[in-house]
Amino acid sequence: ATLSVATILAESAVRHADRTAVVVGDQRITYRELWDQTRAVAGALRAKGVGPGTRVALLLPNVADFPRAYYAVLALGGVVVPVHALLQGPEIQYVLEDSEASLLVCAAPLMAQGLRGARAAGVDVVTVLAPAELAAEHGVERLEELAAAAEPITAVEPRQPDDTATILYTSGTTGRPKGAEGCHMALVAQVETSLLDTFRMGVDDVVLGCLPLFHTFGQTCAMNTTFRAGATLVLVPKFDGATALSLMVEHGCTVVMGVPTMYMAFLEAAGKDDRRPPLKYGVSGGAAIPVAVIDRVRDVFGVEVHEGYGLTETSPVATFNPVGRPPRPGTVGVPIWGVEVEVARHDVPDRVELLPRGEMGELVVRGHNLMKGYLGRPDDTAAAVVDGWFRTGDLGTKDDDDYVTIVDRTKDMILRNGYNVYPREVEEVLAAHPDVARVAVFGVADERHGEEVAAAVVLVEGATTTADALREYAADQIAAYKYPRRIEVVDDLPLGPSGKVLKRELVARYGAPAG
Ligand code: ATP
Repeated sequence: ATLSVATILAESAVRHADRTAVVVGDQRITYRELWDQTRAVAGALRAKGVGPGTRVALLLPNVADFPRAYYAVLALGGVVVPVHALLQGPEIQYVLEDSEASLLVCAAPLMAQGLRGARAAGVDVVTVLAPAELAAEHGVERLEELAAAAEPITAVEPRQPDDTATILYTSGTTGRPKGAEGCHMALVAQVETSLLDTFRMGVDDVVLGCLPLFHTFGQTCAMNTTFRAGATLVLVPKFDGATALSLMVEHGCTVVMGVPTMYMAFLEAAGKDDRRPPLKYGVSGGAAIPVAVIDRVRDVFGVEVHEGYGLTETSPVATFNPVGRPPRPGTVGVPIWGVEVEVARHDVPDRVELLPRGEMGELVVRGHNLMKGYLGRPDDTAAAVVDGWFRTGDLGTKDDDDYVTIVDRTKDMILRNGYNVYPREVEEVLAAHPDVARVAVFGVADERHGEEVAAAVVLVEGATTTADALREYAADQIAAYKYPRRIEVVDDLPLGPSGKVLKRELVARYGAPAG
């Protein structure tokens, strides 16, 4: 078959034509229908000048237009630039300019910021989900209408293994966001190795797609893998725990994939709704999931959560607790097929010096899953990929059985009185307290100790524990230099667009010295 990420959908349209590919709202779309719609959208985009190498940005929530536009661009040999749905005008402008996008596909609910960014960048816009009057008012064309008038494409444009398929922007915690170029072979290899080795999905599976599709985890693991398997993807346009639980029950979801905060939201929802979906397993990644949460999911939903690890730059999966083997909670599993994950000294930036097994250091990754590089940033690429190894910026260990454990991000490490404190370890302790629903631990500036350990905690509904009681609880279980001196009981944790806790936001809120 032709090498292209678009072939994932094109082939399933032949093999699984009448099976349901996507469920969203009250729509059920079969593989044949989805591919026909995609071919029509591709025809419309071709008429707008999209062809091999053209970069097309997508500003879309989790709706059927996402896969239609995504595979249409790729089938034409173009490059998809997904835009985080929470970005504002100037940030969108930056992504459009940096990626040299020539078109933005924008959903009506995101039109205000999309148009602001696109007009500032001088980029043409087509819209989806917009009623005709709204589109006319903003002077933009509707993709649906263009597709209805266009000649559908008939074949997928073949690509070379290292041709760029996607440009995904990192969140930019250090400097401006960088565009990681994912190539066709890396994305196809993710799907193939996942299905053979890690996920084991089949045609009868129904997968809850609550991860945003503009993020690497949702795109590769939820969307591409589900479609390759011929399974059904249930899309959640706007995430909340109760809706997600209802959808899982209603559509009989067998697989759920999420970031840890989503599992916490499912558990909260399950406290008020006794219905349970027919799940076989859960997949977590993107951030560390506390072992206490995995235990609660097992008690409440009767399934194991298999944790994996990866980054945008590794397309994303690097390690995984394979389904079919009992997972080892607290670890992120073993390197996936064809990918090496090792531990290196993190204090030598210009070369990769591997450490003996069992020692802690920076995780480095090598294999078919690496990005090509950061678009237009050879210096950043050279700093990140050294001797063929990608330096992750994450600290971890690897044991004798190849299981990898993440200690924390180097940049989240707290230095208190000269001692390293790893927030993750403190989070595990607090998360095990029965009154704690969610927790994030971070460092705040402190005159005496340099940094102090702080925690933001969301209590389970109805719980009456106090910050003082939680502090004592933690002090009783971990060393004096580690336990959080400062605990804030909060209503909610600030979440980024992919559902991860934004620690820098917590630092900004509570970072002032305690005085
Ligand atoms: P953000 O800052 O929002 O995480 P990012 O641009 O770094 O954004 P990603 O590429 O999605 O986004 O994040 C990769 C990072 O997520 C990894 O470097 C690691 O720190 C963290 N991560 C991913 N999976 C896990 C996991 N299972 N356990 C702990 N950390 C994880």
